[in-house]
Amino acid sequence: LSAEAQRVIDEIEEKDVDFLRLQFTDILGTVKNVAVPATQAEKAFTDGIYFDGSSIEGFVRIQESDMRLKPDPETFAVLPWRDGRSARLICDVINTSTGEPFEGDPRRVLKNVLERAEDMGYEVNVAPEPEFFLFEEDEEGRATTKTSDAGGYFDLAPKDLASDVRRDIIYGLEQMGFEIEASHHEVAEGQHEINFEYDDALSTADNVATFRTVVRAIAAQHDLHATFMPKPIPKINGSGMHTHMSLFEDGENAFHDPDDEFDLSETAHSFLAGILEHAPAITAVADPTVNSYKRLVPGYEAPVYIAWSDRNRSALIRKPAARVPAASRIEARFPDPSCNPYLAFAALLSAGLDGIEKGLDCPDPVRENIYEFDEQKRQEYGIETLPENLGEAVDALEEDEVIADALGEHVFEKFVEAKSQEYDEFRVDVSQWELDRYLETY
Ligand code: GLN
Ligand code: MG
Ligand code: MG
Ligand code: MG
Repeated sequence: LSAEAQRVIDEIEEKDVDFLRLQFTDILGTVKNVAVPATQAEKAFTDGIYFDGSSIEGFVRIQESDMRLKPDPETFAVLPWRDGRSARLICDVINTSTGEPFEGDPRRVLKNVLERAEDMGYEVNVAPEPEFFLFEEDEEGRATTKTSDAGGYFDLAPKDLASDVRRDIIYGLEQMGFEIEASHHEVAEGQHEINFEYDDALSTADNVATFRTVVRAIAAQHDLHATFMPKPIPKINGSGMHTHMSLFEDGENAFHDPDDEFDLSETAHSFLAGILEHAPAITAVADPTVNSYKRLVPGYEAPVYIAWSDRNRSALIRKPAARVPAASRIEARFPDPSCNPYLAFAALLSAGLDGIEKGLDCPDPVRENIYEFDEQKRQEYGIETLPENLGEAVDALEEDEVIADALGEHVFEKFVEAKSQEYDEFRVDVSQWELDRYLETY
């Protein structure tokens, strides 16, 4: 037993934890878990816990279904409900026939990209800004799209009726070890954002997975439904998950250069150029639902055009003002919170690392509001557009070897298969909009 695992076992006893939830995510980013009595902790750390992987989306075929969960002791956290008698551990998935990490495990995919970064001499920091809506439930406890709150950006109580709920959510997250930086009411009615402190990329991906579970569970205690669906209501802002990234080298921020006009190093410029170059393929992973593309339209603070800026928020990537050198970073504004955080970070980071490896040149920032550009002006500036729907995004992913390689063959194939099917189902459906528009007209 490792020292770290022993510490967890001691803590389980001290805190009188009864159950362990062993968590991992499927390719779509859904958190799965197997609960075991806390008495199994030692066995979980030494032998691992076996489960049937054939029923998990995108994992394995039926005939090779035995998988093993190996809990990562660093992820131990007591869950803020059930009187603190349950704790979660995030697990790596092991292929029982080879004893090797399972290549279809999204956490493994991210670890592979981080190992590549490490070989290049970098540690990767990531901080997300997940947005979500709080909606009322109907009598049967089903989610509606009704919000009882009429607050707007940074509004305070009493308008912000949901601030009690948000406070409980934050207490819950803090109990689990999250460092909350800020939380506020977002632009739309019923929309919220909670920012947590940056951390290494793997911990941040773990945190995002946990975050969504905790937010939904605590909202439910208040009879509200929290949704991370990107665009639940047409014609108002959708929910994004802006993702801030920086690389550290020998303990120093490798993105910072005080002599540069934008305070960004050569490394940061190439990283940024890599993301711009691979943006269409990354979009398939970072904005992975049919609904994601209802958010990526002009006029709602979500990006549409492939450009970066140090000022305006219509760009795909922004360079936020940094108070201290260590805070120099870039903010990708296109991911949304329906993504699998492990895969989305893997796609973003591999694109950035590719930019560094190839020494890609970064285009000039665009300081004007790109939403207002016409076709001709966009051409003049050489600005391309993000995929317009999930189908186009998946096509872009299939054509991008760098991002496909980062996902690895297994995940790439399963992901493309699942998403193509999702898009095809949508394509043949007839929407309410079409009925309203055509049923009586023709
Ligand atoms: N909700 C916007 C989006 O879709 C972001 C708004 C903001 O954070 N300023 O990305
Ligand atoms: Mg924000
Ligand atoms: Mg926001
Ligand atoms: Mg932001």
